[in-house]
Amino acid sequence: VHGGVVISLERLRRVRGLEPELWRMNVEAGVNTADVSRLARENGLIFPPDPGASEQSHIGGNVATNAGGPHAFKYGPTGAWVSGLEAVLAPGELATVGSATRKDASGYDLRGLLVGSEGTLGILTAVQLRLAPAPALALPLVAFIADLSSAQRALLEILGSGLQPAALDFLDAAAFALAAGSFPGKPPGEFTRSSERDGGGVVLLIELDGSPGEVDEQLAELDQVLGPYEESPLQRPAPSALWRWRDGLNGAIASVRGGKVSEDICVPPERLEEAIHAVYLLGAELSLPTCVWGHAGDGILHATFMVDVSSPAELERGLQASERSLALALSLGGSISGEHGVGYVKRTYLGADWDGATVAAHRHVKEALDPKGLLNPGKKDPLAGSPPAE
Ligand SMILES: Cc1cc2nc3c(=O)[nH]c(=O)nc-3n(C[C@H](O)[C@H](O)[C@H](O)COP(=O)(O)OP(=O)(O)OC[C@H]3O[C@@H](n4cnc5c(N)ncnc54)[C@H](O)[C@@H]3O)c2cc1C
Repeated sequence: VHGGVVISLERLRRVRGLEPELWRMNVEAGVNTADVSRLARENGLIFPPDPGASEQSHIGGNVATNAGGPHAFKYGPTGAWVSGLEAVLAPGELATVGSATRKDASGYDLRGLLVGSEGTLGILTAVQLRLAPAPALALPLVAFIADLSSAQRALLEILGSGLQPAALDFLDAAAFALAAGSFPGKPPGEFTRSSERDGGGVVLLIELDGSPGEVDEQLAELDQVLGPYEESPLQRPAPSALWRWRDGLNGAIASVRGGKVSEDICVPPERLEEAIHAVYLLGAELSLPTCVWGHAGDGILHATFMVDVSSPAELERGLQASERSLALALSLGGSISGEHGVGYVKRTYLGADWDGATVAAHRHVKEALDPKGLLNPGKKDPLAGSPPAE
């Protein structure tokens, strides 16, 4: 954006330490995220964060964006699994922040500050990760719900029941229809119908985990909660088939018209229905085919507008839809990003809902750690330019 140099960390690939009996791993920033998960699994453990692009992304990038995924509902995003960091801080000194200790209440939480800082405060070179014992059983389930308002009520009942599924994701029927051909189960006959005000029905993707007894108990309770809302009994796709299918969704949706504009906005979970209606209104107003999917339990919705990338007018409308969906999230008491971060594209909306003291504190942190403004300049900078008028 402003010129400068690109620093590639892809050759920092060493696993510095793996201590399965202590549930921890120390890896360099360029280690592939999927390799971190694989190594944990091979040792009877899990590294729960599961962002969609895990084969393409690096653990350093995941920590820098505090990436999340379906299992963040129970286990939290990447930052929840980072106990220590090694980073290069301005003016170019190696710093070790945190350690392998499981708790640290001593200094300011510099670890927490660097997590999610998107390369604007320092360059992460290695990460000390926590791992967890793998649950004996993980049971993926799919529920088909006829309409959005029933799905909203079902979600609130699941949350209110105290059940804590490992994952609680959703797709509306419009999104589901685009990948229905490869769905590892059988949707009820009428399901892919659409509605004018939203995407029609809702598919919940749920995973329960624990010991076989715990999973049985949760399943009985979930069945009871969801029973009145479901189109057909809960389906049980083969383990791993569901998430493999879910990982392919992004590409399937993008391929419909050649491109898509999709924002990872986040709202309080009780406002998902409202948010989805508003996203469809936006799509209708801008004449863009729309679908919505995301992490229901965390209130994250990928507000998605499909565009023909060869049409400049359509791309322009896609950008408008994207900006207006950020404003929408803020108007519902939500956030412009629930998992992907802010970067450059969303900068004009960062801080639009903060008070002056918060904006100032955010800027002071940047000035203290990067006094010359050399690290990813212009990014994650609150109120960098005014948001376009509604
Ligand atoms: C198909 C697809 C699916 C995705 N699904 C998800 C998802 O489910 N959840 C989610 O959260 N995100 C998702 N993303 C967004 C993105 O892939 C993730 O946020 C990922 O964590 C970024 O990691 P990366 O290694 O690719 O980082 P990059 O894209 O290379 O960098 C991201 C930012 O972090 C900074 N950065 C990278 N490495 C470091 C470092 N070592 N030190 C300091 N700063 C650094 C960069 O400067 C940049 O600002 C998806 C992206 C794609 C393309």
